[in-house]
Amino acid sequence: MQTQIFEHMESNVRTYSRSFPVVFTTAKNARLTDEDGREYIDFLAGAGTLNYGHNNPEIKKALIDYLSEDNIIHGLDFWTTAKRDYIEALEEIILKPRGLDYKVQFPGPTGTNAVEAAIRLARKVKGRHNIVTFTNGFHGVTMGALATTGNRKFREATGVPTIGASFLPYDGYLGDHTNTLDYFEKLLGDNSSGLDIPAGVIVETVQGEGGINVCHTDWLKRLERICRAHDILLIIDDIQAGCGRTGKFFSFEHADVVPDIVTNSKSLSGLGLPFSQVLMRRELDVWEPGQYNGTFRGFAMAFTTAAAALRTYWQDDSFEREVQRKGNLIAERFASIATWISEQGIDASERGRGMMRGIDVGTGEIADKITQRAFENGLVIETSGHDGEVVKCLCPLTISDEDLSQALEILETSTKEALTDIT
Ligand code: PLP
Repeated sequence: MQTQIFEHMESNVRTYSRSFPVVFTTAKNARLTDEDGREYIDFLAGAGTLNYGHNNPEIKKALIDYLSEDNIIHGLDFWTTAKRDYIEALEEIILKPRGLDYKVQFPGPTGTNAVEAAIRLARKVKGRHNIVTFTNGFHGVTMGALATTGNRKFREATGVPTIGASFLPYDGYLGDHTNTLDYFEKLLGDNSSGLDIPAGVIVETVQGEGGINVCHTDWLKRLERICRAHDILLIIDDIQAGCGRTGKFFSFEHADVVPDIVTNSKSLSGLGLPFSQVLMRRELDVWEPGQYNGTFRGFAMAFTTAAAALRTYWQDDSFEREVQRKGNLIAERFASIATWISEQGIDASERGRGMMRGIDVGTGEIADKITQRAFENGLVIETSGHDGEVVKCLCPLTISDEDLSQALEILETSTKEALTDIT
């Protein structure tokens, strides 16, 4: 396989190609093929961008039809038929049935653009600068979003201080017996606590990059109550956990909370095209025209595929039930793998929600050995967490039962092989 050109030309900043150093050519649903014709099952799926699988036929057909009719491909933020079709689908299929009355903003196309827009909006609405965020949170790497991201590696790469955010302990950060929101409430009620009253709180309901840390639904409900009581906006970053990943379209549906602002990206376009949105309670739309600008605000091809994804998968609850069923299969197998690892004297546990799941194996070194073995055995799977200690499953939600069971088999075998190498 010819890889020299990448090593010669591509910046050191590249990441995933280090874990999976082959040249991929084609992909279909949960399967990737490399240049040598070798197939892999994809448990990474664009880090949660391919919830509906690679080259999903219904979604791709909508794009091919759109392209073949000379429809608008780029139109700044013009009104287009593609945009109208998407917004109608969003309102009719997703928002109205859930009783949500949001307006939508299309910022630049990546997740971090949506987070930047969301926190700037919160600041503008409340006239305060501070944003509360949580340990192990990941919200993107542009300056504003990065200030709310915990990981030191990313923060250090800016070369200047990141400002405007205060970190609080996420649910479970101080162990099972401490409710970390007691601390938040205490800080808010104490004029001498040093916490600037925030404009907003940004939170993931399941921390994806942070290690599949799941907050309890009661914790999230209480966070919502605290925000309401103190006139603080609740921003849910659903960029990784949204679009069905946890078994509901929005991950906060499990807790029955209504965020003031929501960010979506990754799987929103349905086909892996860059696309993001910010949903905001109607009365929060205080932007002046053009005040948050950008050339690529709303991508017509992505409007088309995103509308197709909503129409194909979200008209009723059958897809949600499928995600929950497959999520249970993954959870059971992950739990049995974790038990086996613990029996070898290494503390391990399974956690997650829906099809966003991981096995915490304690150290990044062990997790890397497992994922390397898995890749040799035909499974693309990554790690997350502060030390990369969680082997993480983000496979397409559309994965077939056969591929899912084969992938779980590969993961179990690879874990056993990796641990035999170590012990
Ligand atoms: N927010 C969350 C929860 C994420 O998981 C990510 C990316 O992993 C981002 C924001 C940033 O998205 P992007 O990488 O598209 O900028």
